[in-house]
Amino acid sequence: MTLGGKTAVITGSNSGIGLGIARELARAGADVVLNSFTDAPADHEMAAGLAQEFGVDARYVKADMSKPEEARALIAEAGACDILVNNAGIQCVAPVEEFPIDKWDAIIAINLSSAFHTTAAALPLMRAAGWGRVVNISSAHGLTASPYKAAYIAAKHGVVGLTKTVALETAEEPITCNAICPGYVLTPLVEAQIPEQMQVHGMDRETVLREVMLTRQPSREMASVEQIGGTTVFLCSDAAVQITGTTISVDGGWTAL
Ligand code: NAD
Repeated sequence: MTLGGKTAVITGSNSGIGLGIARELARAGADVVLNSFTDAPADHEMAAGLAQEFGVDARYVKADMSKPEEARALIAEAGACDILVNNAGIQCVAPVEEFPIDKWDAIIAINLSSAFHTTAAALPLMRAAGWGRVVNISSAHGLTASPYKAAYIAAKHGVVGLTKTVALETAEEPITCNAICPGYVLTPLVEAQIPEQMQVHGMDRETVLREVMLTRQPSREMASVEQIGGTTVFLCSDAAVQITGTTISVDGGWTAL
């Protein structure tokens, strides 16, 4: 399966799932544009590393997804955008009546509105190229809720609605739009929480994963960033041409409960 000649833009891709997706798209031959809101030498070195490892073009473009004009400018700066992965996201946990207003606004802007802006900017490029794939990273929390995550869950449900709408608007074109809904994914940030949870609960790693962190994930295993990347590559494959406007859960059975 090759994505040679395609350019993929992945928002929020200097760590975690976004970086995992960028790596799998590059492995499949796509040129990649990495992004986050920072502009550190390490960000550009990461892109250079991907270019060397996979023999593709890779670059890093700074753009803050909380700002509509920067989200749109990311696509303009990329120049081409055959594959758009809306992945940037943040979280805040608080009861709804105490939820900080600035956090609500930031989560809606980064986790939801940025996908609207990048998609609006990318669709004309996809139409001109005669091919396009939009992959939105929602969550199991785009399909179900948990307490204390009002903004995140509202944004992730919103991403599913945006996905369906864009799919209908592009249904007769060679463009698809889908959402991936991961449960727990083992990223460096999640990995870093495990020792703390082990200490708090006085449990070993396996027990804290089973009994504390993965109680809603029936497989009792986290997905890997490579698996989310692989699902993205599948959505870009010829086998997925008729898959549009839907969600693919990668959640170990969470949403089957
Ligand atoms: P992460 O914190 O490792 O990655 C988030 C990325 O978004 C980083 O690259 C960060 O720099 C970037 N980002 C944050 N604010 C930004 C901004 N204003 N502008 C541009 N980039 C910004 O977290 P992750 O777990 O890899 O999460 C990636 C996506 O996957 C998020 O949308 C998250 O909601 C979703 N998700 C994660 C899990 C999980 O278990 N890790 C589960 C379901 C969904």
